This record gives sequence, structure tokens and C-alpha cells, in this order.
Amino acid sequence: EVRVRFAPSPTGYLHVGGARTALFNWLFARKHGGKFILRIEDTDIERSTRESEQMIMNDLKWLGLYWDEGPDCGGDYGPYRQSERLELYKKYAYELVEKGHAYFAVYDREDPKKLLYTTTELPSDGNPFTVVFKVPEGRTVAFHDMLKGEIEFSTEHMDDFIILKSNGFPVYNFAVVVDDHLMNITHVLRGEDHISNTPKQLLLYEAFGWTPPQFMHIPLILGSDRTPLSKRHGATAVEHFRREGYLSKALVNYLAILGWSVEEEIFDYMEKIKDFEPEQISNKNVVFDYQKLEWVNGKHLRALEPEKLSQELKNWLDFVGIDEEIPISVALICREKVNTLKQLYEFALPFVKDDFEYEREYIEKFLSKPEAVTILEKSIRAFESLQTVTIETVEQTLRSIASELGLGTNKVFQTIRGAILGRLVTPGLFESIVVLGRDKTLDRLRRTLN
Ligand code: GLU
Repeated sequence: EVRVRFAPSPTGYLHVGGARTALFNWLFARKHGGKFILRIEDTDIERSTRESEQMIMNDLKWLGLYWDEGPDCGGDYGPYRQSERLELYKKYAYELVEKGHAYFAVYDREDPKKLLYTTTELPSDGNPFTVVFKVPEGRTVAFHDMLKGEIEFSTEHMDDFIILKSNGFPVYNFAVVVDDHLMNITHVLRGEDHISNTPKQLLLYEAFGWTPPQFMHIPLILGSDRTPLSKRHGATAVEHFRREGYLSKALVNYLAILGWSVEEEIFDYMEKIKDFEPEQISNKNVVFDYQKLEWVNGKHLRALEPEKLSQELKNWLDFVGIDEEIPISVALICREKVNTLKQLYEFALPFVKDDFEYEREYIEKFLSKPEAVTILEKSIRAFESLQTVTIETVEQTLRSIASELGLGTNKVFQTIRGAILGRLVTPGLFESIVVLGRDKTLDRLRRTLN
């Protein structure tokens, strides 16, 4: 059975790079009918927080990357939080000492930086001690990376390294080996930044006499200047994109196509499971393109079924804490002009708020012009007598106002547009009027005229 894991350190928010790693693990598990495990690597006590763990889990759920085993739902291989596994690390670290692969380094309790002695006997003099792994000399450590092929490291420049700190906490390289082994992990898909850790981990597997999992190191996501994507380049938190009104499926779609060439660019990741071949992931680092992500989001936004669009919009409004309802008719015309739910909301606002403000540009260019009054008066009369309000009848009405007044359609349309919505960039004018309805349109024309 395929068993893969996503193993975030809960020291902050979920980064898009982490989300991409989680996605590839998830796809791999689902494709093989295996298990996707969430393990929280909270051994850095200073920086790990429960809030961050919760945020990471919320973001993964929002992305639809549900796990089969984890700290919240349990499983046969728990606990799934490293801070709850300290007894295990101790047991296995001591086992390495017994096997002759590690030793205790004992420090002065008065001056904890001062090494007193090393020993293979469990120290009992009350001084703090660490457990140190003995790196074998003159060895070559080799492994086959599923993406990068054969990789070799020499132990020549590798120093002995601590596996268990004096506070009883393991170091990453040790905990990850114990856990991946005990949790029966078959494949480790993780960021390329961990490639240099792999030889240390392989030496530990060897010392224990355990079979290592298969490894695949995924190229990093870079910013436009080709350094690893960080806050300097712009937002990197999954939560940020959620707040900005991105659809989770669009974000996942974009993360999937970053470095994975598939035939269509726009897809629902649920439908891509069977096509996922990790070996097809590009072995080159990839650049995060904010514009492309927005474009992908726009495509998804416009492809949503109306009920789904309502749902997404409602979820987003709840998430950001806006107490407002956007009728579906309004959402449908607004989404044609925007790429995110947030932009959609901003476009929709003047439809639902009768007391909207007028843009300065509208006032200066149209409302303050002498013809404005005539245009507004004439359109009020025209709408008063208009029986059926459809795109066609509205268009006819507005065009005849323009020709009767001998004015350009742009001038007439913009004057009316601003009068009913307060701005000059809106969904199509005729559909906007249809969606507002005759009464609201008239109210707004009259309000502007006064
Ligand atoms: N906790 C490590 C990280 O967040 C996990 C690395 C791994 O997958 O082995 O980078």
C-alpha cells in the first residue's frame, strides 16, 4: 500500500510551496488508492504553535486536500504530532547507542556549552547530555531520486550530528526517519531544499537496519528574480489568496500546472488524479506568476455553475466577515468583468447598495456637464413608459435617447451608467439595468438628478 505524508512544521502559515508539496502527495496517494498522512513536525518548541497547526489544517481542508490519518482524526500509527512522540525518539536514539552507532555527549550543568566527555553508558551524574550519531567515515551514500535520478554524497565532510537534544527533543533528521519508518511511509515527496538532508537520513536508516522509502525531491517555487519565493516577492500564504477571493480549485489548478505539463491548463484537480505521474513534474525550478494565477482564477470563476458561484461567494463573504448578500443575477453579470471573488464583490456593491457614492471621474466628466440634466430627464421619462425591460428594449430605449438628443452614445450611456451605479466601469449597461429592474433604475436616475 502506498503511504505518503505531508509533514509541515507549524511555525507559520501554509506557504504555497508547502501546498504544492501537499498536493503532489495527495494526488499520488489518491492515484494509487493509498493513504495520505498529515504529520505535525513541532519539535521546534520556540517557534511551533497550535494556532499555526490549526491554520495549516484549515488551509489544507479549504484546498480539498483531506488526509486519512493525522493529529485531529487519528489513525493506526499515531500520535501524529512529533511533540507527543518523545518517548519513541528516546527509545530509538538509545537503541543506536547500544548498536554502536551513537554516543552520549555530556555537558557541564553549570556551563551547558562546555562538553565534559562522551560515553556510550547512559550518563547518571545529573549533567545534561545529547545523543550524537556517529557518521561512518569514507562512505558514499547513494540513492535514486524519482525525479532527479541517481544522487551520491560522500561522508567525507560530514560531521557526527546530534539526534536527540538535551531537552529530550529530537532533531528533524532523526525524527523524520523514526516516524517515516514507524508510519510505514513508502514514498517521500518533499521540497528540494531537503535533498542535502537525505544522506543523513539514509545513514540512520542503515544504522537501524531499516529499508528507506523512495524519495522524490520537488523543485522549489521561485519569485521573479529566481530566488526562492518569499514575502519579498508578494504574498505566499495560502490564506492570503483565500482572503483575496481566489477559488481553492483555481489555486490548486495553478499549483498543479506549475512545473507539471498537462494537456489542458484549466482543470478540476479531482479529475486529474488518474493522469498524475510524479515523474512528469519538471525537474527545473519554477517561477510563481501572480498574473497567471489570477487568469486561471478568472477562468474557474466564469465556469462555475450559478448555484456553485452563489455558494463560493457566500463562503467568501462569511470568511472575510462581510454581512452582505449578492443576488445571483448580479454575481453572474459581474463575474464577466473580474477574476476574483473580491473583485466580483466590489463590482457588485453598487447593485446592492442604494446609497453608493459617485466616482469623482464620473462627476467631472459627465455629471457636471450641461447635457447631463437633459439626458437624465429624458431617460426617466423613457423608463417610466417602458413596459417590458429586456436587454433589447433597454438598448433601443437608450439608443433612441442618444439620437433624439443628437448626442454620442458614449456620452449618453456613461451618464446613465454613472447615474445608476456611480462608476464608469461596470458590467454591460443594458444587462445592468435589466438586473437592477425598472423601479430601482428609476429611483437611481431620480436620485442623481436631484
Ligand atoms: N517538517 C519538514 C518541513 O516542513 C518536513 C520535511 C520532510 O518532508 O521531510 O520542511
